[in-house]
Amino acid sequence: MNLIIHRGTKEIGGSCVELKSAKTRIIIDLGIPLVDIKDKTKKFNSFSLRKKTASQLLASGVLPTVKGLYEGVDDGKSVDAFFLSHPHQDHYGFCQFIRKDIPVFLSRDAGRMLKAADVFLPVQFGKHKQFFLKNHDSVDVGNMKITPYLMDHSGYGAMAFLVETEGKKIFYSGDFRGHGRKKDLFEKFLKSPPLGVNVLIMEGTMVDRAEESVDSEEQLETKIVKEARSYPGAKFIFCSGQNVDRLVTFYRSARRLKALFVLDLYTANILHELMRKSMPVPSNGFKDVGILFTKHFMKRLEQKKMPDWYKRWRRYEISPASLRRKGGNLFVVYRERSQPELEAAGIRPGSVLFYSQWGGYMEEPSFKPTETFCQRHNMDIRQAHTSGHATIRSLKRLGAALNPQVIVPIHSFAANKFHELFDNVRELDDKEVFKL
Ligand SMILES: [Zn+2]
Repeated sequence: MNLIIHRGTKEIGGSCVELKSAKTRIIIDLGIPLVDIKDKTKKFNSFSLRKKTASQLLASGVLPTVKGLYEGVDDGKSVDAFFLSHPHQDHYGFCQFIRKDIPVFLSRDAGRMLKAADVFLPVQFGKHKQFFLKNHDSVDVGNMKITPYLMDHSGYGAMAFLVETEGKKIFYSGDFRGHGRKKDLFEKFLKSPPLGVNVLIMEGTMVDRAEESVDSEEQLETKIVKEARSYPGAKFIFCSGQNVDRLVTFYRSARRLKALFVLDLYTANILHELMRKSMPVPSNGFKDVGILFTKHFMKRLEQKKMPDWYKRWRRYEISPASLRRKGGNLFVVYRERSQPELEAAGIRPGSVLFYSQWGGYMEEPSFKPTETFCQRHNMDIRQAHTSGHATIRSLKRLGAALNPQVIVPIHSFAANKFHELFDNVRELDDKEVFKL
């Protein structure tokens, strides 16, 4: 079997892994890079994808050069299958360019998340011939056997993959952690890992962020509750609408304080479409959750000809006026686009914004309008975050459990640091062919 990492050996984001046997080729993940293709000090601009064909993006080096993968590119037989580890853009962002005849495998949860996210986000997953994977249920593609393992990660429905062919075994960790709401799953995995793995391709987002404090979601919840008590005004939440673990953490914090939890139309629809009764949306009977209608998302749903996606929330609607009447005992999902409605409701003194993403993003220009909004309303910004990725301890535990002959780093800006953690590291370059 050959392993080729087309992108991701030296960076976080843009992951694309190919596994090739004598008879079969599969691709795992096809993400948007976080950093510019040519200048790694700059952010990747996803607007550059607009109205571009796969051929154009391939020619400009934006898409990794993988034969038989892209729609409208006549370069031979299609790859046999595509596997998606989880619904984060740095893993799926280029999937819209995949040929329509290629079967796409992913977890059902990931599929539901992406279907809903496509309604709201500019970067599309797209429509594919989809097949849903179940935890531990192997599928055969050509002469390869692929076994998915559900993982604990901030991306919903995340999976790792074991690929077996020609007497060899490769394990791809995808993105994972051991301190999220699925941490029991991680512990279970460590107790009975697949045996005889030759190569472990392992994410290393945090190998150079060892100093970052890492709480479990439960610990974070307790911290939020404690902090929130010192703010008599509203508690605004700056958080990805797809980080389900985190939204649950905020909902639980709100509940502990007997506060109303207010979602926007985007987040409410995402949680609803996951079709799990445990999701904190009014449609699941959660009486302490309301929905704020904002012009921005209503317009979006009109454009998509999906007005039912806001009409279905009418009876749970919290208008700006009723928001004002509720006083400060509120947790409100904040978006830059919701500022007009939030200001119409009036921002009480003593309000706070809980910033719940990686701190580095606060330095970026895209955060500026939010910073200005907070300054305008004399609002504190408090960090309330824990990483979606494995700590060094969790990386080491996964490495020890799988005990592979070789560890190949991926999804890290400091792949060289792996050598300090493991003694069997093989650093690859993008596009390098590694023969097993
Ligand atoms: Zn991820």
